[in-house]
Amino acid sequence: MVAGCGTDERLGKKVAEIYDWLETQITDGNNEAQCSACGKCCDFDGFDHRLFITGPELKYLAANLGDENIMPMTTSRCPYNIEGKCTVYEYRFAACRIFCCSGNADFQSELSESVLKKLKSLCAEFQIPYRYIELADALNAFADG
Ligand code: SF4
Ligand code: SF4
Repeated sequence: MVAGCGTDERLGKKVAEIYDWLETQITDGNNEAQCSACGKCCDFDGFDHRLFITGPELKYLAANLGDENIMPMTTSRCPYNIEGKCTVYEYRFAACRIFCCSGNADFQSELSESVLKKLKSLCAEFQIPYRYIELADALNAFADG
């Protein structure tokens, strides 16, 4: 596909479709997972957790929040976690949706592989370099322009 008018909208729609698909997979297949939305896993050092994202996901967040609202990550906590709550819940990344501390790790790993294949295909379709990068690096690079 060639970049042009409406490309961002088309990309955003496709990312939203992938997230919808993901939510269905999670609802159907991970019933034992219980997330209390405590937000502890959004402090990556504190929780000994790492979170990686892809380019289309960051573009999707930026398109919905506005580029100027993409915040750098200056601590080990995601900047969108404020007072323990995700302030971008509707637009959060695939890895945020998949990870659940009480869930089945194999299920989450397989689902992660599946969703990354979809996001990789999206990169090919929209001629975006495929990168799978740690959240802090992605946010800081975006904020640096
Ligand atoms: S986007 Fe939301 S759920 Fe994901 S790490 Fe940040 S605060 Fe946590
Ligand atoms: S996955 Fe676990 S640590 Fe993360 S918000 Fe849910 S209950 Fe808290």
